[in-house]
Amino acid sequence: MIWKTPWKESSRLLARLKAEISMAKPAVFVDRDGTLNRDCPYCSDPEDLYVFADTVKIVKGYQDMGFYVFLISNQSGLNRGYFTHEQMEEFNNALFREMEKMGVHVDDAFICPHRPDENCSCRKPEPGLIEQALRKYHIDMTRSVYIGDRDDMDGELARRFHLKFILVRH
Ligand SMILES: [Mg+2]
Ligand SMILES: [Zn+2]
Repeated sequence: MIWKTPWKESSRLLARLKAEISMAKPAVFVDRDGTLNRDCPYCSDPEDLYVFADTVKIVKGYQDMGFYVFLISNQSGLNRGYFTHEQMEEFNNALFREMEKMGVHVDDAFICPHRPDENCSCRKPEPGLIEQALRKYHIDMTRSVYIGDRDDMDGELARRFHLKFILVRH
């Protein structure tokens, strides 16, 4: 049997794809601990927050070009019971406030709460967190970038999605 897509249908599909592409924006995916703020074991106290201005500056450069800004972070301290979701939010909000002062607005945060032994699909370098972002936003992945401090976690995840990776060291 010969199967043909009626022209009307394919032109409708094409129009939808074009609309989706024009809505898509590139994103800068940015790691938290060791990248945006000085790492501490299972950071959760806003008192311990120290923000790396040089990373925020790189993020700002992308945001100014129209990129989304997404935080992408493994926080196994949640499911280890070291801190609560509310405590994590408090720390994140303190970080976001500092970033706002430097002119950067974080559009959304994608967090993996799992311990390594839970074998979830979102603990970096697993792809789940970026997949969550892709389900929620129209993202132009061909122009998106990833900023992180660990090549084995962040770099690995960036490579899975063929994203440009910026390794920062402090
Ligand atoms: Mg890190
Ligand atoms: Zn997870």
